[in-house]
Amino acid sequence: MSDHLPFPQSTPNATPSPLRLVTRSARPAGTVVSVRGRSIGDGNLSIIAGPCAVESRDQVLRTAEIVQDAGIAFFRGGAFKPRTSPYSFQGMRKEGLRLLAEVRSRFDLRIVTEAMDAETLPAVAEVADVVQIGSRNMHNYSLLEAAGRISRPILLKRGMSATVHEWLLAAEYVLAAGNPNVILCERGIRTFETSTRNTLDLAGAVMARRQTHLPVIVDPSHGVGVASAVPAMAMASVAAGLDGIMIEVHPSPESALSDGHQALRPAEFLQTVTLLRAIRAAIQPSKPVAEFTV
Ligand code: PEP
Ligand code: MN
Repeated sequence: MSDHLPFPQSTPNATPSPLRLVTRSARPAGTVVSVRGRSIGDGNLSIIAGPCAVESRDQVLRTAEIVQDAGIAFFRGGAFKPRTSPYSFQGMRKEGLRLLAEVRSRFDLRIVTEAMDAETLPAVAEVADVVQIGSRNMHNYSLLEAAGRISRPILLKRGMSATVHEWLLAAEYVLAAGNPNVILCERGIRTFETSTRNTLDLAGAVMARRQTHLPVIVDPSHGVGVASAVPAMAMASVAAGLDGIMIEVHPSPESALSDGHQALRPAEFLQTVTLLRAIRAAIQPSKPVAEFTV
């Protein structure tokens, strides 16, 4: 059976690109992902903020209040945490989902939280407005296919050792399985550099944004891993014309059960958000800078 591909080949022997559904030419106007009355990828700056993990009722409600008061529409927080060590805090799991459901009902916030496997995906998707697939799972093709069969938007983080092409192919899995609402998130890659947790690949994020119609956001918290350097890289990401930012904030980072070293304190967070909005306003929101060519 011949495989009919939906794009022209430049020469008779050229290998066609395996990027079919995610490629920018498949949807030149760009994908706008709608999430309960808010949009990601519509030319405005989207901000997703919250703690690394849901740790307690008090912590999550206090952080939700800070995020909502900053005029932000998306709240992040992991109930299931993929940790490098099996002895580290693994998240509150089902109880964490219950607390996120409480945030969802009490605040005007859309919940972004991670699903680590296909078994817990349905429970996560019941609470999540956007289901996150983490860096460590970007190559988990059965999870990607399962994510393609649900009706929630998917926030797909870049694998820490994945090329932009592999990242886009991971998104292709979700679209090919039937879910067109994917947001890509650059979160830093592994390099020889040790002064930062990861190397935030803003160039890769800009290249992805040019190659796909899907929104591309940046997570400078995991990308840098050093709280004092997070605002600078968040600002750089917005200046690069990307669609949004995911940022970790904690009411008291020193007592955080995960990633306290990269969480902004509430005051730093509010200052950063003000700066991000000023930068976005300065760069013609109608035309993402990532699309500029000279
Ligand atoms: C997270 O967002 O908390 C997380 C675990 O991120 P990543 O998958 O990028 O490491
Ligand atoms: Mn984290």
